[in-house]
Amino acid sequence: MSVVILGVFVADTAFHADRMPVMGETVLGRDFVLGPGGKGSNQAVAAARAGADAHFVTRLGTDDFARLARQTWGDAGVTPHVIDTPESYTGAAFIFLEHGTGQNAIIVSPGAAGLITPADIDANAGPIGGADVFVTQLEQPLDAALRGLEVARAGGARTILNPAPASELPDEMLALCDYITPNETEAETLTGIKVNSTDAALKAAKAFRAKGVGAAIITLGESGALYHDGDTTLHVPAMSVGKVVDTTGAGDAFNGGFATALSEGKAPEEAVRFGNATAGLSVTRPGAASAMPTRAEIESLLR
Ligand code: ADP
Repeated sequence: MSVVILGVFVADTAFHADRMPVMGETVLGRDFVLGPGGKGSNQAVAAARAGADAHFVTRLGTDDFARLARQTWGDAGVTPHVIDTPESYTGAAFIFLEHGTGQNAIIVSPGAAGLITPADIDANAGPIGGADVFVTQLEQPLDAALRGLEVARAGGARTILNPAPASELPDEMLALCDYITPNETEAETLTGIKVNSTDAALKAAKAFRAKGVGAAIITLGESGALYHDGDTTLHVPAMSVGKVVDTTGAGDAFNGGFATALSEGKAPEEAVRFGNATAGLSVTRPGAASAMPTRAEIESLLR
């Protein structure tokens, strides 16, 4: 029942202030929060908390933020497969949050994880090829994601590509995906179809299928997700479980939950429901990795 995730960890450093300083100026902040982030790492935490035997393949520096990464995975029960990269640094994001408007501005530096190569994937071919489910995103270099999908497919793992952030993808990569899980904007970037309804989402899903994807799942925020595999089309509503507090990481929660359910042999339609439940719980709490629900919480919501 292993879920192997390839991706990036970044330390999110969030600075709250009344306004952004202009160049050359210093302003006093109101608050500061340091927390674990990175789509891949968040997905691994979501999967482990949802009950999977979750593994995470990445590169880290040998610095304090690397300790934060290992602590985060240790607490969640994620098994790390890390290539230490002392010549670089652990990924970090500067997040400026404007008090009052809630607007943000972000700089992300992926650091060591930006140096992941296809050779790194080959070095981890054991766990990747032996996985029940393999998941990757697009925060690390594309050639590494592609190699991950190849090795996973060759080993018989089911493959999930969460194409975030969206960038142009070679057709050979799409043909290696059993599942693709874009949100509305990612689906639009990749297919050119504006996804503003479930009908439009189905059109986008068909466009992915035409490029060789097994099944497309377009996540639709508070409207849930649309699943299409050529034969079956389903709109699975979101599960709202209370006041929405913070939707950061909702997509990561969905992917972690969906992958976990698939690894347990659940039918894809049921796995989408499981993903919606995982994500629906995560949006009722602040933060991303820290908002991922436990298996017991997901099961009681699905009951
Ligand atoms: P992303 O976070 O990548 O932008 P979405 O916004 O599509 O992705 O959200 C992913 C999933 O999170 C949705 O499919 C849904 O299950 C859940 N979700 C998102 N927003 C809400 C919400 N307001 N209420 C309940 N569930 C939500």
